[in-house]
Amino acid sequence: MPLIILTGLPTSGKSTRAKQLHDYLTARIAGTKYRLHLISDDSLSISRSVYDLSTVPVHTRSANASEKDARAAIYGAVKRVLSDKDIVILDGLNYIKGWRYQLHCEAKAVRTPSCILQIGCTKERAQQVNEARLKRSQAAASASASGQEGADDASGQEGADDASGDTAEPYEPANWENLVFRHEEPNPMTRWDSPLFTIIWEDDEEQVKRTFDSLWEAIAGDGRKIIKPNQ
Ligand code: ADP
Repeated sequence: MPLIILTGLPTSGKSTRAKQLHDYLTARIAGTKYRLHLISDDSLSISRSVYDLSTVPVHTRSANASEKDARAAIYGAVKRVLSDKDIVILDGLNYIKGWRYQLHCEAKAVRTPSCILQIGCTKERAQQVNEARLKRSQAAASASASGQEGADDASGQEGADDASGDTAEPYEPANWENLVFRHEEPNPMTRWDSPLFTIIWEDDEEQVKRTFDSLWEAIAGDGRKIIKPNQ
């Protein structure tokens, strides 16, 4: 069963959509022999700081071991479970096209389809989310330093993000900017970035369901492409 690779800018709403897809697929495969897995940086305890090149001198950037290690951990986790009976949702930045190619080949090797779910969001909107997270974590850090009571309530007024009980780790601003700069948009003309499905921030429940329905149809329904080793 398929490998579903999410991609999108940092803090663009990927985990939110991955959870919605997880709920959708849980209902869809109920009573079947299929199993469902959600793999993410959070599920593998990978910190946002592994993507931070801002502290690495330019000449050593290619040897950014921490991001490489993170990718190896993700690759291992996908490889361990991917099979014709397992659906894997890979929630993450997945911003390098060569990396998406590698994952596509891994799926092909176990004769299962892969697809891309792109989370579309403006840079400004995604940045607001990260800034709200930064404010919240700075408020929490200064509260714990001063032992202040009720500081959580104060930080909760900083943005809509906090009102939703969001506790995710922020990216350092330079790291966030750099990830946006390095992001390689999926290209549906390539084998490894297709089929490509897109959900945008503004999409309502109905639209999201329609996208999930067509994703399901393409990877598991009658329209499912038969994977041949030489494709
Ligand atoms: P990412 O996984 O890309 O870092 P998240 O899914 O964690 O992003 O979302 C970041 C924040 O934005 C969360 O607080 C989430 O509740 C909120 N959010 C995500 N998508 C939407 C959306 N479509 N509409 C409103 N809020 C959203």
